[in-house]
Amino acid sequence: MSHFSHVVPAENARCVHFPAGERQYRAGRIFPVFLPFLGCPGQCVYCAQDRQTGQGNARGTASILSAVRPGLEQLRPCGTGEERELAFYGGTFTALPDADRALCLDLLHDMRQSGRITHARCSTRPDALPPSVLKELSLHGIDLVELGIQSFDDKALSLSRRGYTGKDAEAGCLAVTEAGLRLGIQLLPGMPGSSPDIFLADVRKALSLSPACLRFYPCLVPEGTVLARWYREGSYRPWTVEETVRTLGAALNMAWQARVPVIRLAVAPEPAFDKALLAGPRHPALGALIQAEALLLAAQDAADALGKKPEMLVLPRFCQGFLYGDKGALKARWRLLGLRPERIRFEETAHEATLF
Ligand code: SF4
Repeated sequence: MSHFSHVVPAENARCVHFPAGERQYRAGRIFPVFLPFLGCPGQCVYCAQDRQTGQGNARGTASILSAVRPGLEQLRPCGTGEERELAFYGGTFTALPDADRALCLDLLHDMRQSGRITHARCSTRPDALPPSVLKELSLHGIDLVELGIQSFDDKALSLSRRGYTGKDAEAGCLAVTEAGLRLGIQLLPGMPGSSPDIFLADVRKALSLSPACLRFYPCLVPEGTVLARWYREGSYRPWTVEETVRTLGAALNMAWQARVPVIRLAVAPEPAFDKALLAGPRHPALGALIQAEALLLAAQDAADALGKKPEMLVLPRFCQGFLYGDKGALKARWRLLGLRPERIRFEETAHEATLF
């Protein structure tokens, strides 16, 4: 089904406007505080947060917070209209011991009071959301809660030993929005028991829950995890880079058309983590390859909606960096659409794509 059923071609089908994403990373806007494994009920089969955050897992909340406070205090207060977000990532924030969560919220309070921070988010599990804690978060200045949903599929959840069902995951999402907090949904394409079709169904389900943002973390195989053992035994096979690009490209296009930002398409580079990887879809430009695939799919849908051979495509300037994929691999597919390089223009001020 075309994602463009809602698009009314403008001016008697002379052009079609469509979303083409946004710049993927806005450096400096988010100040992260990593709390690897803290509050987690155990170590999930694929999780190597200590390596992923480059931080090890030997420290407690108080020690992590005292290490980040000086950096925060050096920030200059935000000017009018400027935004800076404090993000408590890693671990299970809503299951931290009460006293530890209070320390985090105290830090947030101080930073908000001094104008250095204007927003805040935390990440947690969908089965660790007591109403009293959600209320506490919203009262103490957290605006957005990201849930490590991973999948809504019961089989994938059970094979990955997540300890909750798809229904529980959905209930967790609703609990966040009902508490008046914005919702972020993290998915784990390629997790044990998943498939491209299951992942695309997960994305559709996620988009139906009115999230403020999504994150996709293609499943990798870090050393020292249960997944590494399953991989060695031959009972788990990660997705290839090609499978990941094709599937996440389709998923990203779905999110664009629903106008929901996808704020991550791959695990961030981290030398200690990369060194510990056994297998999985790792590529230095994975995010750009996925964006390129999504843009091509979006343009194909727009061409169908246009109902005639496209003559010109105008894109926001930031698309120029990824348009043709790895070493121009997508050029032939663009040409098949009738869009040779001379028919594609980039504009600084364009926020959406327009196909004529
Ligand atoms: S996946 Fe989430 S809940 Fe599981 S160990 Fe990692 S941080 Fe904790």
